[in-house]
Amino acid sequence: MTTLRDVLASGARSFSFEFFPPKTEAGASALWNAIRRIEALSPTFVSVTYGAGGSSRDRTVEVTRRIATETTLRPVAHLTAVGHSVAELRHVIGQYADAGVRDVLALRGDPPGGPNAPWTAHPDGFTHAHELVSLVRESGDFGIGVAAFPERHPRSPDWDSDIEHFVAKCRAGADCAITQMFFRVEDYLRLRDRVAAAGCDVPIIPEIMPATDVRQIARFAELSHAAFPEDLAHRLAAAQGDRAAGHRIGVECATAMAVRLLAEGAPGLHYITLNKSSAALDIHRNVLSTRSASVR
Ligand code: FAD
Repeated sequence: MTTLRDVLASGARSFSFEFFPPKTEAGASALWNAIRRIEALSPTFVSVTYGAGGSSRDRTVEVTRRIATETTLRPVAHLTAVGHSVAELRHVIGQYADAGVRDVLALRGDPPGGPNAPWTAHPDGFTHAHELVSLVRESGDFGIGVAAFPERHPRSPDWDSDIEHFVAKCRAGADCAITQMFFRVEDYLRLRDRVAAAGCDVPIIPEIMPATDVRQIARFAELSHAAFPEDLAHRLAAAQGDRAAGHRIGVECATAMAVRLLAEGAPGLHYITLNKSSAALDIHRNVLSTRSASVR
């Protein structure tokens, strides 16, 4: 069975969708509706974020297992080092392997207090993602992805150390990277050039976040520290209260960004769905129709 590594090595563009573990029955039903709609498009892979703790983590493993066993989709399993001993991490990797999962996104994770809280490692666990990459690598023949930050990781003191540590986790065994959300194509291109200049050729897949509601912007900044373009913020503010207009604006801007990223040579696109398929699917359909028009 192939891993994502093989797919990317073939030169094919990757199109993928990200979900999160649902908290309620209604949330689970919305998630599975979205998964079934996306399955019909035969994406390269889908991924499920790893919860911050306890039951949410069990739900991540369960949703990922069901995707592996009950759908035709390739799941990429997120895993973080937060609050886990190495023995627990081995156990989760074993659960993923038993479910037939072949690809893991190996992450350090954020502290339970959120991205801005101080990081504390588990006494028998890991401090940085490269250690988890090594553990997954030695645990089986997994494809391994890691996180990349177009505006550098908020805790990195400077670009040199950010790139140095990114390259270290690639050298530890990662085959590809997926970025944090961002809203300016230039940030992605600069990151890609910096990584290439450091002698690392791991493909970096840009993450696409549809911004359809002005109220999301503060949350985006808190979670990702991504700078938000003023003109898009103004357009969304003017459309506040009109969901259809917000959707149209968010889809239009994300489509333009996605098309430009592919034209600049990005190896694929990873869409955040927020467990609702409609904005991500609209962007993806627009991207496909623009690409097929451009090769005619
Ligand atoms: P690392 O690579 O360890 O980097 C963290 C910081 O430490 C960076 O500043 C880095 O430069 C520095 N660093 C790395 N190695 C060293 C070293 N040896 N010495 C000194 N400094 C070092 N979080 C979740 O909780 N669940 C998820 O499912 C999830 N999915 C994500 C998916 C994507 C695509 C992305 C981009 C992020 C995701 N995150 C998720 C968030 C992520 O876990 C956090 O952003 C976390 O703060 C960084 O994780 P990392 O794997 O990049 O850590």
